[in-house]
Order: sequence, then C-alpha cells, then structure tokens
Amino acid sequence: MPFFDEVNETAPREHLRRLQFDKLQKLLREISGRNRFYIKKWKDAGIVTDIIHSLSDFQKLPFTCKSELVTAQEEAPPFGTNATFSPEAYTRVHQTSGTTGTPMRVVDTPESWDWWGYCWAHVLTGAGVTASDRVFLPFSFGPFIGFWATVEGAKRVGAMMIPGGGWDSIQRLRMMRDLGATVVCCTPTYALRLAEVAREEHFDMQSLSVRALIHAGEPGASVERTKARIEAAWGAKCFDHAGASEVGAHSFECELQPGGIHVIESEFIAEVIDPQTGKEAAAGEIGELVITNLGRPGFPVIRYRTGDLVRLNLIPCACGRTFARFDGGLLGRSDDMVTIRGVNVYPTAIENVIRQFGSVDEFQVTVTTASEMHQLEVEIEVVPGNDSEHVRTHVEQAIYHALSLRPTVKVAKPGTLAHFEMKARRFRRVDGASGTRPR
Ligand SMILES: [Zn+2]
Repeated sequence: MPFFDEVNETAPREHLRRLQFDKLQKLLREISGRNRFYIKKWKDAGIVTDIIHSLSDFQKLPFTCKSELVTAQEEAPPFGTNATFSPEAYTRVHQTSGTTGTPMRVVDTPESWDWWGYCWAHVLTGAGVTASDRVFLPFSFGPFIGFWATVEGAKRVGAMMIPGGGWDSIQRLRMMRDLGATVVCCTPTYALRLAEVAREEHFDMQSLSVRALIHAGEPGASVERTKARIEAAWGAKCFDHAGASEVGAHSFECELQPGGIHVIESEFIAEVIDPQTGKEAAAGEIGELVITNLGRPGFPVIRYRTGDLVRLNLIPCACGRTFARFDGGLLGRSDDMVTIRGVNVYPTAIENVIRQFGSVDEFQVTVTTASEMHQLEVEIEVVPGNDSEHVRTHVEQAIYHALSLRPTVKVAKPGTLAHFEMKARRFRRVDGASGTRPR
C-alpha cells in the first residue's frame, strides 16, 4: 500500500495529537502580533493565546466563519486583514469559486504553496498515482485554486501533468487517448458529462488508458451510486477528495476505498460540531466540519466552520492509515440539511437513491418550507425511450424505502432541468410563505 508520508499516516493517534499540538503552537507563534484578523477576533472574545497549553485549551478559541473572512477582506482590500504578512511575502493569489456568495481571495507564500502541493501529494498517492502516471487536467485554469494545487501535487509525486485547458470535451477525450492519460482529475459532474459526449460523438471510451479519476468540488465520488455510474462509464476507479480555497486540500480516499475519505491529520485539526448548538457532535453523529489548517501561517483558518456535513470515524483503516475518516465523504452543506417528519434529509442521501436509476438523466430536488413544515419535491428528466410514469413511480418508491419519506416526484420535459458542466446545484430550498429563495 503506497503512502506519501508513511510515518505520520500510520502513526498512533496519540502521536498525531502531539504533532498537531506542536504545529498549532508554532502557527500561533508565527501569527501572534502579526495577523490583524485574529488579533482583533481574539481580543474581542477576551482570549489570550498564551493560555493554550493543550488541544482542549485550543477548543476555547472561538469559531471562524466565512462571513468574517469576507468582512476582513472588505475592511482591507484586496487581500484582507487575514493576510498575516506584507504583500511582498506572497507569490500566489486565488479566489473562491463564488457558488455560495461573494468570491473570497486567498493568498499564499512560496512555503504555503509548497504545502498545498504536499497535501495534494497525499491525495494522489492515496489513489495510487506514481511517477509512471500521466495526469490529465481538463480545465482552463482560472482563479479557482483547486486544480492548480493538483499540478503541484503531481510535481511532488513525479507524475506527468497534461494540461487540457482551452479545449472542448471531445478534443479532451482525444487528447487523453493520444497521450495515454492514466489519471483524470475533475468534478463528478464533468466526468459524467465527458462520458455523455463520448456517447454522442461515438468516441470509444475503451480506447482510453485511464484507470483512475480523482474528483473534487462536489460530493458525488463518495455517493455510492454516482461513483458506480462514473466507474462503469469510464472502466476506471474513482476517488474522492475534499478541500476548500480558504482551508487547503484536507481529505482523500485511499485505494482500499472503505466508503469514506481520510483527513490529513498531520496538517489539519478536524472537529465535528452540532451546527445548531456549536457543541461537539457525539461520536458517529452527522455534524458540521470545523477545521484548522496548520501549514498556512500567511492565511490561516483556525476553528473554521466549513458548512460541510460529515460523520467522523476514528477506527483505523485496513489500508494502515490511522488518519480519521469522514464516512461517506462530505454529506452536503449544513444549511441544506432539513429534518422532514423526523428524518434528516441531506443532498447526497437523495442523490444516492436517484442515481441507481439509469433511466433518470438529470434531477432537481426542492425542499419547500411553509409554516415550519418541509415538503420534498423531486423533478426528474427521464431518458427518452423509457416509460416516464413507470420510472416516476419507481423513484418515488425508492426514496420512500431509503428515507421513510414520501416525496412528490414529477417528470420534467427532456432538456428543461439545468444540465451542469462543472459544479452542479441540484438541491434548492424554497420558502413557501415568503416566495422563492433559490439556493
Ligand atoms: Zn484507508
């Protein structure tokens, strides 16, 4: 089983905790008296960092929210008060994809950019990528950080990077074939889109040498049925990865694929809280991921509320890693989780049910809330040639069996639901009393 950093990846948990604490203290020393954002935040909260002598002291620090980082940016544009050092210290700037609000800029020093590559090397090695691989990146590189960092990771493991920007989907497929790409990194939605294009253009997917796809940006690769669909279309294994511009590349799937992703605990401290109360979630409960990055003093996030739902599993993995896992990957956004008649409903749970139907092309889930009551409505596009009513009834029954919840399932005309090229937004919430609030 290949590891990128075997000593730490397989270390006893006490060793990991000690390592995290040592790195945390080093980080606090580096930003102390320099990072204007945290100086003010902790002063306002009446916290002196000198009191932090253990990881439980660390939990006395207040959470950091994305809205605070956005405000910090507005207060001192363009990079904000969370940029610890003076602008000359930084060599990279990126910004968030902006799918959930104001784009936020993040900056990296040469050291923290190396750290991104170091984390991505864990992701690639976890998926079995070595120097003999050719990694295809089907993107036009924009300001979004995600796959830029893949380039650094590929450099670390010595793999060849094939840039696929500025091309359309069929050209990319041909390029993968002609250059013998063995690994593709993209969103799950785009992997399915490429397979669709191959079908339309009569491109033989079996002519590709791709054996692994590494996915990020959406939960799909950990959604069992979506994963199965991608793997069948590509004849390759697909791996999940999670990260965020303001946090780093924090989690990856190992080759044994135990149904979850490992957190790089040598570089991050992960906590799980009840999103309502802010208290630590009980072991094995679904809660919001709170994360601290330990390798980015120039733009740190300390006890950062990611808004991602996870279920933490501390049982060592059969792969040999002791790094904790998020069972089922990222389960959705905490503000997308609703409780309908006592059942916790979150996007990936519904996606997993719908994706088992090859006869469903695209779908959209709407939760309508009126007078505190939630209703679940699912719209599906049925692949032409199938009996729509038959598919509709089966989807309704499958959701009922999986979630003990009776949704309204409607059939949409082919081509009327949004089809996504990159990141999909298939889940939305509507306030039935005050009008539509698409999310
Ligand atoms: Zn593992």
